[in-house]
Amino acid sequence: MNVLLIGSGGREHALAWKLRSSPLLKKLYCAPGNGGIAEVADCVALPVADHAAVVRFCKDNAVGLVIIGPEAPLVAGLVDDLATTGIKCFGPTRAAAQLEASKGFAKDLAREFGIPTAAYERFADADKAKAYVAARRAPIVVKADGLAAGKGVMICEGRAEANVAIDACFAGTFGKAGAKIVIEEFLAGEEASFFALVDGEHVLPLATAQDHKRAGDGDTGPNTGGMGAYSPAPVMTPSMSKRTMDEIITPTIAAMAARGTPYQGVLFAGLMITGEGPKLIEYNVRFGDPEAQVLMLRLQSDLLAALLATADGNLDKIALEWSHEVALTVVMAAKGYPGPPQLGTEIKGLDAAAAVEGVEIFHAGTKRDGNRILANGGRVLNVTARANTVAEAQARAYAAIARIDWPGGFCRSDIGWRAVARETAAS
Ligand code: AMP
Repeated sequence: MNVLLIGSGGREHALAWKLRSSPLLKKLYCAPGNGGIAEVADCVALPVADHAAVVRFCKDNAVGLVIIGPEAPLVAGLVDDLATTGIKCFGPTRAAAQLEASKGFAKDLAREFGIPTAAYERFADADKAKAYVAARRAPIVVKADGLAAGKGVMICEGRAEANVAIDACFAGTFGKAGAKIVIEEFLAGEEASFFALVDGEHVLPLATAQDHKRAGDGDTGPNTGGMGAYSPAPVMTPSMSKRTMDEIITPTIAAMAARGTPYQGVLFAGLMITGEGPKLIEYNVRFGDPEAQVLMLRLQSDLLAALLATADGNLDKIALEWSHEVALTVVMAAKGYPGPPQLGTEIKGLDAAAAVEGVEIFHAGTKRDGNRILANGGRVLNVTARANTVAEAQARAYAAIARIDWPGGFCRSDIGWRAVARETAAS
């Protein structure tokens, strides 16, 4: 079958790389793609926000499945518009994508259905928000309700800081996304990402991962889209995964179906593993980036068959196999990121780096200029490695990075530190 993949990040390169090995795949298109995806798919300059143009492309090219990588086209209703013309999609409708598009929506659903999450209230008015903060204990978390590219969450150490965050939201720092806010209790614990395929009714848990949101070593510096990840997340023991399914994922899917907005696609739960068990921090309605990169390296089954079964409502007939190996990815970013990145610098040594045993390099913000690869975004490369232990996977990824000649880029030097410390303590 012909498949159209939407997106241009490292996540989409990893998905494209995995789809490529499917016996069901005839032709793989990617819109818009990037310098690395161009090696495994036909990149097309399709205006993704123009849904009629996407429909036309699918009809003209006999596309049998559209796989949507990022959240924005899902929230904009691309699935709804494709579905009305009979084009099959992997991903939730606009109504179901509210789980990510509105933090308040997800929190209200959690409250209504008894799903464990931080205590919270929603506000559209600064005075009421500040009065709430005055009555609560710090630290406290202020969140823009809408999509803010991972930047709309402020962990405030004191009330004064929370009041500044509230004013920033209502002053338009996050545009429309901050016109409504959620204020919630600070949760202490270890974070983990949990992924499941959902076909409206059936749920198939995928693997777990842990990411590194801060720009600097030792989890310091500003928040980013993610500077690295590894899978599995050791904190997600089988019993913690079962509790997550029973207490968080399954009730959410049942609630969405009962409301007449069944969820189809991949559901990504950001969790805090607290002393009381798993608590929902937030939902995302797509694969994580960079978590997808480590998931795809560990997945041994046919991804396309699984995504098709998700779209067709046949997930109960699918079982997935995962490598027992650990996968770890280090993000290389252009200098300046998460602020305005330096674009156009040349990256050399990628072939030598990819030759390190167990290593796959996924591209994010790159573009090709003849034979040259140039930086074309903030997060640029995902140097990903598989091995028997986190320490070995980490060593392989950094050995590959040592072969990359890119003065315009940087990366964290400690991705996986928490898991490596666990391994060291256990040995
Ligand atoms: P979100 O975009 O909601 O995933 O939040 C981004 C990051 O902020 C999360 O990955 C956590 O590190 C942190 N965070 C969000 N909410 C809380 C909370 N209630 N308690 C502690 N940390 C939080």
